[in-house]
Amino acid sequence: MNRAGFAGGSNCERNIAPTALSILNSVFGLPAFRGAQAEIVRHVTDGGDCLVLMPTGGGKSLCYQLPSLLREGCGIVVSPLIALMRDQVAGLLDAGVKAAVLNSTLSWEAAAAVEHRLLAGDLDLLYIAPERLLTPRCLSLMTRARLALFAIDEAHCVSQWGHDFRPEYIGLSVLAERFPNVPRIALTATADELTRGEIVARLKLGGAPSFVASFDRPNIRYEIIEKQNARSQLQAFIAERHAGHAGIVYCLSRARVEDTAASLANAGIAALAYHAGMDATVRARHQDRFINEDGVVIVATIAFGMGIDKPDVRFVAHLDLPKSIEAYYQETGRAGRDGKPADAWMTYGLADIVQQRRLIDESAGADAFKRVSVAKLDALVSLCETTGCRRVRLLDYFGEASGAPNCGNCDNCLSPPRVWDGTVIAQKALSCVYRTGQRFGAVYLIDVLIGRSSERVVQFGHDRLSVFGVGAELNERQWRAVMRQLVALGHLQPDSEAFGALKLTASARGVLKGESDVMLREETPPGSGGMRGGKAKNARRGAASSSASPGSSFASNKAEDTSLLGVLRVWRSDMARKRGVPAYVVLHDATLEGIASSRPKTLDQLRAVAGIGDKKLERYGHALLLLVRSKAG
Ligand code: ADP
Ligand code: ZN
Repeated sequence: MNRAGFAGGSNCERNIAPTALSILNSVFGLPAFRGAQAEIVRHVTDGGDCLVLMPTGGGKSLCYQLPSLLREGCGIVVSPLIALMRDQVAGLLDAGVKAAVLNSTLSWEAAAAVEHRLLAGDLDLLYIAPERLLTPRCLSLMTRARLALFAIDEAHCVSQWGHDFRPEYIGLSVLAERFPNVPRIALTATADELTRGEIVARLKLGGAPSFVASFDRPNIRYEIIEKQNARSQLQAFIAERHAGHAGIVYCLSRARVEDTAASLANAGIAALAYHAGMDATVRARHQDRFINEDGVVIVATIAFGMGIDKPDVRFVAHLDLPKSIEAYYQETGRAGRDGKPADAWMTYGLADIVQQRRLIDESAGADAFKRVSVAKLDALVSLCETTGCRRVRLLDYFGEASGAPNCGNCDNCLSPPRVWDGTVIAQKALSCVYRTGQRFGAVYLIDVLIGRSSERVVQFGHDRLSVFGVGAELNERQWRAVMRQLVALGHLQPDSEAFGALKLTASARGVLKGESDVMLREETPPGSGGMRGGKAKNARRGAASSSASPGSSFASNKAEDTSLLGVLRVWRSDMARKRGVPAYVVLHDATLEGIASSRPKTLDQLRAVAGIGDKKLERYGHALLLLVRSKAG
């Protein structure tokens, strides 16, 4: 399609927007664009190159899918992950789009058939793995086909500094040389400046505009609690707030993954393990079940997650501290891609900080690298300890000013932690560290402070020190929290030589001399899944998500659920199994909820529900109306 370009301004909008909008509505069943989508679609449809930075769940796919449908020829989507391509194509086919995939899983005949369709102009979208696209054979195929655009998904994979570097992405620079007239749109959810620069350089997007969306994920509720018994805290969290929901639990080690998955399964939760040391077929089966079934909890190391497109992950839980805010944000970002309420929940304690510090100290990296790693860890720890809004902190870290001082949807906003003057207590702790020679860990120091004559304490003669028993006003748990905060505040630091030992820092001197105050946050009362004011907060959660239909967003999806929503879910599972696609490819949660709350009686009314396009209406309309009718009254 030939368009006049940007110069037309509002004229242009009148020309193009209705077409894009009508496709958005008829094919995808959506009433309106989100954020910068409209502008991006217009720009690419007009033949422009661009870079799109949007958080996970921001709606990147439509930015290239719609222009591919609007422009003549086929849109080529470069994507690094086979599972991701497969699910995206299944979703598009279900919406009636002519989509296909070319990757190493296809037989020679099947691949030849796809190539034939491409040349015949019978494809709207073709997903290709980069190494395949870059073969001479495939590039020559591309020169003979009519191309609408190149979309380079997960574009940060070109970055050699990033954790997702894929060497085959480097070769994508040939696209600009070989196909100067085909627009290129690069998309990523990784925002940092360095990565952005590399993408622009490698993909030759120098003169092209960047569309940067807000990185806020308002539907995700952040909560970071003190670690007591991580496993039972996790079980309580799932039982109280996410029974029957899909979620991801991150642990640092394989052993912990195995243990945690087993303990959840024992508690009757559908939990599966996933880590790099497992048998590959079992691991793949677990991933498939997580994607395709409703309400599976996957317990994983960080090896799991990239390219998991599942929109209805209702929570991400961290049992161990990640290594940076970037990692935390990327991992928690896998929750709630569908925009519905989701939780990012983490339990953490002093041992986590010590462990991460040890990993850094023991790593092979150069000193400069270690310094950066420590700074990144410190930033995350201070996010954990902040008494202010977590979201404001997070956005600030990514260089984005938050519009409001408080988000109203994180633990600190919902039940502000009390802060107390812990200066005297801190002095006691710091002098205990000093008097015992800066050689001991928190457990030992707490024994001395409380005045416990343990075997070791007596052995070292520390029961005769002036600090022995000087902190009896706090119990062990409270002392643990104090120690952790003193580390987080930078007055104590783990010794890189002696594992677990805590040493004084320069700033500790000011505290000991009474020159600086130490404000500490009051700790979580024990029990109730570790939540401060747990019950009250649950009540507020209901109010916060009142835009959804009553009780719908966190309704159980267990088999015995006989509400309309429950019946719709069962129907969806059957349909997904029959068609061999993930449940969300059939219909998203939000769409099921839309049906359950609006109870359409006619096909027209059903068509008005977001997520029901023409094809879905044709395919599922009658069955859905029958279900609604069967649950009438
Ligand atoms: P990303 O690739 O940026 O992570 P997706 O393209 O997968 O995000 O979209 C995330 C979710 O948002 C999907 O469930 C999609 O259907 C939904 N979505 C995208 N754009 C819109 C829109 N304009 N209106 C409603 N829902 C949308
Ligand atoms: Zn907040």
